Amino acid sequence: MDRRDELAANLAAVRERIAAACIAVGRSPSEVTLIAVTKTYPASDAAHLVALGVPDIGENRDQEAAPKAAAVPGARWHFIGQLQRNKAKSVVTYAHMVHSVDSVLLARTLAEQASRRREAPLEALVQVSLDEAPGRGGAAADEFLTVAEAIAGSGALRLKGIMAVAPLGEDAQMAFARLERYITLLRADHPDATVVSAGMSDDLVEAIANGATHVRIGSALLGKRQALR
Ligand SMILES: *Cc1c(COP(=O)(O)O)cnc(C)c1O
Repeated sequence: MDRRDELAANLAAVRERIAAACIAVGRSPSEVTLIAVTKTYPASDAAHLVALGVPDIGENRDQEAAPKAAAVPGARWHFIGQLQRNKAKSVVTYAHMVHSVDSVLLARTLAEQASRRREAPLEALVQVSLDEAPGRGGAAADEFLTVAEAIAGSGALRLKGIMAVAPLGEDAQMAFARLERYITLLRADHPDATVVSAGMSDDLVEAIANGATHVRIGSALLGKRQALR
């Protein structure tokens, strides 16, 4: 099978899983946007996915994302990984949405760079930590509204919603059930912040059951990655 056929077959299976997960909880599959996470895979795979009808492409490292974004201009690039502030300058030039804004300082840096380098505001999500383990990304429960405020208060960023990753080693249903409280808190202050970015290849069902509007799918579409990232 050539690569495009392989991706098309994987895509059909993922779309079916998403549709089944939606139907199981009385949601419409049209409410869920699929983001194909192409990290470690070549730009040609991103181009195939765009051609197959998946314009939303996710990457987690600027070093890899920037050249791919240049090579596949037809995609909408989602930056989903922990972002060092010195990379903000590059990321704002190609990203459609940054999912991983987890500190006021990062929000301010992105806003400053976006105001200099972009015409349209940069869409941003506040990433909330569902565990208290430091270092894996995400704002702590008592800080995430402050981070959301920093995004919303900047003219160069547009607060679109919330992002979360299920903690390693925890039942995904339990973890994503905790998201609801954060979604409610966020929407009380920011009713337009309707995006919920949650769910990966192994936990998309649980994420959709708990309100995900955007799922970030890598290995189920592209294959198992060599190195753990
Ligand atoms: C790699 C990655 C994904 C995709 O993970 P898969 O298990 O390959 O689907 C989703 N979200 C983030 C933040 C990632 O880094």
